[in-house]
Amino acid sequence: MTNKLKYFIGNWKMFGDFGAFKIINKINLFSKQSNISLKKKKIVICLPNTLIQPFSKKLKTKYISLGAQNCHSEENFGPFTGSVSSSMLKKAGANYIIIGHSENRFEGDTNELIKKKIISANNQKLNIIFCIGETSKERRKKKTFSILKKQLQSSLAKEIDLNKIIIAYEPVWSIGTNKTPKRLELLKVVSFIKKETKKIFKTSKSLRVLYGGSVNSKNIVDFASMSNVDGFLIGRASQSSKKFIDIVKNYYK
Ligand code: PEP
Repeated sequence: MTNKLKYFIGNWKMFGDFGAFKIINKINLFSKQSNISLKKKKIVICLPNTLIQPFSKKLKTKYISLGAQNCHSEENFGPFTGSVSSSMLKKAGANYIIIGHSENRFEGDTNELIKKKIISANNQKLNIIFCIGETSKERRKKKTFSILKKQLQSSLAKEIDLNKIIIAYEPVWSIGTNKTPKRLELLKVVSFIKKETKKIFKTSKSLRVLYGGSVNSKNIVDFASMSNVDGFLIGRASQSSKKFIDIVKNYYK
C-alpha cells in the first residue's frame, strides 16, 4: 500500500439539514481516531452552502476539511440573485470547492464560465476540485480523450496555482449509475490527464487526479491497487457516515 497522501472527498449534493451534523461529527472522529494517519488520508466533505458556516463553527477541532460545491464567477459581491461567491464561501468556512461538476454543466456551466469560477476560487486561495468527464455518448464515439483535453485546456488558466488544483475525473455515465470504468481504461485516462496538465502548466510536477463515479465500500478495493489515482470524489455514499468510513477503511485494508 502506498504512503502517498490520498484524498477522500464527499460531495453531498443537495442533501442535509442541521441534523446531518452527526454524520460530519462521526467522520471527523473517525479521521482523528483511525490508525490511518492524517499524512496518508485527507478527508473533505463538500456541503450545501447552508451548512458550511454552522458545521464549521460546531466542529471545534477539525480532522477533516469542509468545502462548497460551486460558486458564482464573480469573486466578491454583485447583482446576482440567488448566487454565492467564492469569497463568501471562504468566509463561511470552506477550504475546498468543487467546480465544473457535470450536474452544473448540465445546468449551463460552460468551459469558459468554469474557467472564470476557477480563477475566482484560486484568488480566494480555495483548494479547487475541478471536475471533468465525458458523457456515455462521447465515450461510445471514442471522444473521451478529446473531450477531456478540451475541458482541461479551456478552463485552466496558466496563472493559477497548481498546488491548489485537484482534478476529479468523473465520467458522466458513472455518476449515480453504479457503473465504473475498467481498470485499464481508468489508468489510461488518469495518466492522460496528468500528461496534459503538465503541458498546460509547463511543469514536470504531476497534478493530483481523483476518480469519481459510483465509488462504494466494495469497489474501492479494486481502486486501491491503482497508485496513480490520488483519491476519490464520492457522491451518494458520502451522505452516510458508515458508508463513507467503510470506503476509507477498505481502501487501506
Ligand atoms: C458525484 O456526484 O460527484 C458522484 C461521484 O456521485 P456518485 O458517487 O453518487 O456516483
